[in-house]
Amino acid sequence: MIKITAIPALQDNYIWALHDDRHVVIVDPGEAAPVLDFIERNNLQLDAILCTHRHGDHVGGIVELRRVYNVPVYGRSHPRNPHITDDLIEGDQLRLEPLGITFDIIETPGHFEGHIVFIAPGILLCGDMIFAAGCGKNFEGTLEQLHHSLQRLAALPDDTLIYCAHEYADYNLPFALLCEPSNPNIKRRLAETEILRAADQPTVPFTLATEKATNPFLRCTNPELIHTLQARGLKDTSPLAVFTALTEWRARF
Ligand code: ZN
Ligand code: FE
Repeated sequence: MIKITAIPALQDNYIWALHDDRHVVIVDPGEAAPVLDFIERNNLQLDAILCTHRHGDHVGGIVELRRVYNVPVYGRSHPRNPHITDDLIEGDQLRLEPLGITFDIIETPGHFEGHIVFIAPGILLCGDMIFAAGCGKNFEGTLEQLHHSLQRLAALPDDTLIYCAHEYADYNLPFALLCEPSNPNIKRRLAETEILRAADQPTVPFTLATEKATNPFLRCTNPELIHTLQARGLKDTSPLAVFTALTEWRARF
C-alpha cells in the first residue's frame, strides 16, 4: 500500500513523498536537504521526481537530488525549465513502477505556463493550482485559463484527496469568511485549522468536497459571495467576472 508523506520545506512548502517500505517518488522538491534526510532516515530508494511547474520553490532541489540519485524528472517541458527529462502532456498516463501507481496528466495553465497536475484514483497532486480555500496566483497566462483549469479540477470526484504544495489554510480562510460571512463550513474549517496549526500539524491533504464547500474560487455562483462582491461594485455576475473580481480583491487583501 502506497503512503503519501509531507516533507515540510522552505517557508511553507510541502514536498510530497509517495512511498512504500522500499521505494519513493518525490513531488516538487523545492530543496534537497529535507528530501535526502527523509530518504536516508527511511532507508528508501528514490525512483523518480515529479514536477508540476518550474517555480523555484518546486524545482530548487532537483539538481542536488540528481547529483546523488540519477533519476528521471517527469513534467511538462518548457524553455525555462531545464530539469525535465521526460515530457508529459495533456492526456498522458504515467505509470510508476514498482510503486504500482498510474497518474493521468492534465495541463492546467493560469498560474505558470506548463503547469500540470497528476491524478490517480482518489489522489490529486495539484502543485500550486488549488490551496486550502484559495488558488495559485495568475503569474502567466490568463485569468480565464486559471478559472478553466480550476473548473476542470473541481469536476473530479468529491472524495479526491488534494495534495497541494503550500500550507496556506490559516492565511486563506479568513478571506473566504469575508466573502461568505454566514457559511458554516468555512467557520468550522477555520476552527479546525487553528487546532491543527497550533499543534504544528499540516492541514493538507483535504478533500475536494471540503474545497467545494469553502473555497471562494470554486464557488463563483454562490449567492452570498456574489452579493458580497456586488456590495464592492461588481456588475457582471458571470462566473468568470466573479472569479476576476475575487482575484483582484484577494491580491489587495
Ligand atoms: Zn508556483
Ligand atoms: Fe509554489
